[in-house]
Amino acid sequence: MSKVVYCRDVGFDCDGIVRAETEEEALKKVAEHAKSVHNIEEVTEEIVEKVRKVMRDE
Ligand SMILES: [Zn+2]
Repeated sequence: MSKVVYCRDVGFDCDGIVRAETEEEALKKVAEHAKSVHNIEEVTEEIVEKVRKVMRDE
């Protein structure tokens, strides 16, 4: 089972999907995605909380 985050669920108009083995890794990958795709330099605590909330096990 892995952690999956749908970028759309975080609030972006985006079909990006982040998959990772652990929650920590997923958060890291989401941060990278947000930076490279959405030009978000700093992932705030608010975004992290949101990502945790929408994270699913698949
Ligand atoms: Zn995205």
